[in-house]
Amino acid sequence: MRILVVGQGLAGTLVSHAALQRGWDCHVMDSGQPSASSVAAGMFNPMSFRRIIEVWDARPHIDSMTATYRAFEADLGESFLHFLPILKQIPNAEYAEEWNRKALDSPWIEPVRSDAEVLQRFPDAVPSPGHGYGLVQGGGWLDLPRLIQAWRDRLMEEGRFTVGQWSATQAQKANDDGWDTIIDCRGCGAALDSTAGPLDIRANRGEILTVKPDGSGGASLPDTHILNFGKWTLPTQPGSWRLGASYEWNRIDLDPTPETRDFLMASLRRAAPNTATSMTVRHDVGLRPVSKDRRPAVGLHPTISSLHVFNGLGTRGVLIGPRWSHLLCDSLVGKAQLPDIVNPVRLL
Ligand SMILES: Cc1cc2nc3c(=O)[nH]c(=O)nc-3n(C[C@H](O)[C@H](O)[C@H](O)COP(=O)(O)OP(=O)(O)OC[C@H]3O[C@@H](n4cnc5c(N)ncnc54)[C@H](O)[C@@H]3O)c2cc1C
Repeated sequence: MRILVVGQGLAGTLVSHAALQRGWDCHVMDSGQPSASSVAAGMFNPMSFRRIIEVWDARPHIDSMTATYRAFEADLGESFLHFLPILKQIPNAEYAEEWNRKALDSPWIEPVRSDAEVLQRFPDAVPSPGHGYGLVQGGGWLDLPRLIQAWRDRLMEEGRFTVGQWSATQAQKANDDGWDTIIDCRGCGAALDSTAGPLDIRANRGEILTVKPDGSGGASLPDTHILNFGKWTLPTQPGSWRLGASYEWNRIDLDPTPETRDFLMASLRRAAPNTATSMTVRHDVGLRPVSKDRRPAVGLHPTISSLHVFNGLGTRGVLIGPRWSHLLCDSLVGKAQLPDIVNPVRLL
């Protein structure tokens, strides 16, 4: 197989790695436009907290995710994947009751623990608003910007990477150019390409902060776990945390807004009032590529032959991306059949 991958955010990184693992000839082109992957926190969580349910196919996605990122680590000699417990602040008694009911038969969550119990296991836990904590195992984060850069360096060393702007009109001559297929991994870039056909991938705009203590003293934010209070803090480097994130439709500019920064900081102060005051050292904005049914678009483009699509990774790209990158590659050589649930035709 000889394939061209267009876009090297998370989707293009995963699918080009999967292709090279299979011994195929693979080349990657990226325009260098701002990407969702370069600002994402890279978190993964087997639970959805709104209804306290397991996310879509949590176990197969986590298994494939772990194997895939460990393979990148072995190939590139760096560590990217970090498992970290998630501590969810329980907002009220009804939520605690529901959490405990769900914990009876969940492999991911433990029953609600009091602050005293939590402090024994996590000495840097902050006091909860009064209803204790729910503990989640199986979560963590991926150092996505680092992975993408390291993979790009490897592709460049091997002469497999080109900087370039691609549009769907170029798909027509894929076979003349010697490609068996082209895989469109342009995220929201595909939605902005008027020649790409009307696939309904929407941009969900997210703002995210990097914070550190302002030096005026006080306990530090937790290092031993991800703290979730509706929003969340994620320790990524000593003395530095990501704080996120916002979700916004109908807006695609990449200008950070003071309103969102203040909103995130105020949420943090309410959740962790006794910790050192944090100051913002970075404020990033990105566009998540999201489909209307929140499932990815994986497979043959419905109107452009010789073009495949790997897009719509949405808010959980780190978790779901690896499994679908492998299934997409297997489908190209008839070793897997992609289910209708991810068929791009549904987004026409
Ligand atoms: C603030 C924020 C926080 C997030 N946090 C998380 C998180 O904690 N966990 C999680 O799983 N997900 C998170 N996400 C979502 C995650 O970022 C996405 O699921 C994922 O990164 C999408 O990857 P992608 O490769 O499809 O798109 P992108 O990362 O946007 O990559 C698209 C690539 O295509 C290139 N490109 C675009 N147009 C062209 C063109 N015409 N020609 C050539 N190349 C082109 C771009 O340069 C870019 O490199 C977050 C997103 C945001 C914005």
